[in-house]
Amino acid sequence: MDIIHERVSKLDYVIDGFGEYGNEVIVHYRREHKGSRIYRFEVSENCPHCGWRVTMAYVMASNEDEAKNLMENGMWLCGNCIADTLVDRGYILKSGKRVGGRPHTPRMR
Ligand SMILES: [Zn+2]
Repeated sequence: MDIIHERVSKLDYVIDGFGEYGNEVIVHYRREHKGSRIYRFEVSENCPHCGWRVTMAYVMASNEDEAKNLMENGMWLCGNCIADTLVDRGYILKSGKRVGGRPHTPRMR
């Protein structure tokens, strides 16, 4: 039980409750939803959704490897499309802590 628990915990599962089935106790696990964040990549390609030629690509992923993987598979969106996705799906935003790096400063034109 302890070893199994340790393993599933590493896969982001958390105990959701206990149940009984005959003489056995069943542990219910549920997958903890890890927050996704939006990653930005420089590109010079057409957005796969709207077809506009853009210089910045955005992907939603839970870590950098996943983000890169999505980029490689063309699963990215341009700024407009990612914003539309956030609106359409009713995402609630939560600011993530930045580890290192400078805060993003918008460029004045
Ligand atoms: Zn687009």
